[in-house]
Amino acid sequence: GNVTDINADVVVIGGGIAGLWLFNTLNKQGYKALLLEDETLGGGQTIKSQGIVHGGTKYTLSGNLTKAADCIAGMPQRWRDALAGEGDVDLSDAKVLSEYHYLWSPGDIASRMTSFFASKALRGRVNQVKERESLPAIFRNDSFRGTVYKLNEIVLDIQTVVKSLVRGLESRTLKVDWTPDSGDSRLVTDNGEIAFIEHTQGNVTYRIHARKFVLTAGEGARTLMGRWGISEPEMQLRPLHMVMVKHTHPDPLYAHCLGIKTVPRMTVTSHPTEDGQWVWYLGGEIAEDGVERTPEEQIRVARRELADILPWVNFDNAQWSTLRVNRAEPKQSRLLRPDAAFCQSMGNGIVTWPTKLALAPNLADEVGNLLGADSIQPSGNEEFALPANLKHPQVCEQFWSKHFD
Ligand code: FAD
Repeated sequence: GNVTDINADVVVIGGGIAGLWLFNTLNKQGYKALLLEDETLGGGQTIKSQGIVHGGTKYTLSGNLTKAADCIAGMPQRWRDALAGEGDVDLSDAKVLSEYHYLWSPGDIASRMTSFFASKALRGRVNQVKERESLPAIFRNDSFRGTVYKLNEIVLDIQTVVKSLVRGLESRTLKVDWTPDSGDSRLVTDNGEIAFIEHTQGNVTYRIHARKFVLTAGEGARTLMGRWGISEPEMQLRPLHMVMVKHTHPDPLYAHCLGIKTVPRMTVTSHPTEDGQWVWYLGGEIAEDGVERTPEEQIRVARRELADILPWVNFDNAQWSTLRVNRAEPKQSRLLRPDAAFCQSMGNGIVTWPTKLALAPNLADEVGNLLGADSIQPSGNEEFALPANLKHPQVCEQFWSKHFD
């Protein structure tokens, strides 16, 4: 058959938030950048995240406001600039679900102590909402007795973020299938380096060359690294068992509920559905502690927890479901984990995990620094596109799409 060479400056492998933000940024800078995805864009951890652009306030709960936390503290502004169409990427078409995320203590004694601690530790970074009329609507109920803090953290509709990041760049994305023997794509290595990626379509074999290959494959990094023949940096997975509840209560909730531990007892985000209901997405302690539970047990715990912390919200006619998902991160001890994106150069590749959706801009900065350090400059991309017959990956569906009618 025919062999055609495709020469890129940078190939990004994995189209979650890390790969998408990086790909979009590199394109803006004039790099010939390609994005390879083997499923759907955003369909991994990214769409299953709660979409909160953390500024690090959650971490100050444990008293660990370290230097690294300064990095994450700058992230909400980077995203706000992007949403205003004035950032390094253009998210002006993306949808904001809530301008603020909240932190609330339901009012029993134990959690009131945590909230007292929180109010001191967080002074100047969060504000207590004192007037009833300034509270999110859901808390303006006579039986509510808690304390509410407003955080400078936006909550985003992630599917619209994914769409914005790929818009106009589809011709530089490639859907790949790495299945050994039957798939269309293969990593070809040479002496521990990635020589090129071989992609076959019809009777043409394309050889995709790049000066740098960046792995932003989330959990998929392990298999890719195996094919590449490297075992470092090591990855770890942290499993979560999230709960979804679709219901007709009119008010959304975007908040961490404080318990007695330093992890939020429950983190709730609300996602509008096409039939005018909300899907509440429940994470935090319940998702971490619920990994061993069956879905039925996990739903029972969620019902009990919600009845305890929001007794006036009626879930009688609600539909329930759960979703299992792993967080993929570099393997390192919990205490050392910096709240900054992780990037490590490996030969002509870079292995990265953002560790937080919010840190995608930081990851793009770090990769940019590593490219600069290797003198890899943009070579100009005005005419750059993949051959028209190649397939492009689709944007993912919403995380609840297969769970409810
Ligand atoms: P992913 O989104 O997993 O993307 C990896 C992509 O690579 C996928 O699309 C996958 O299909 C593709 N891929 C894999 N292997 C290959 C391959 N061999 N070839 C090509 N493509 C490949 N962070 C926050 O900041 N705020 C939050 O509110 C938040 N909530 C979270 C809630 C949950 C339940 C979870 C699990 C995480 C949450 N996070 C949050 C963390 C955040 O979701 C992740 O840090 C972030 O989405 C990781 O992005 P990523 O691009 O590295 O990975």
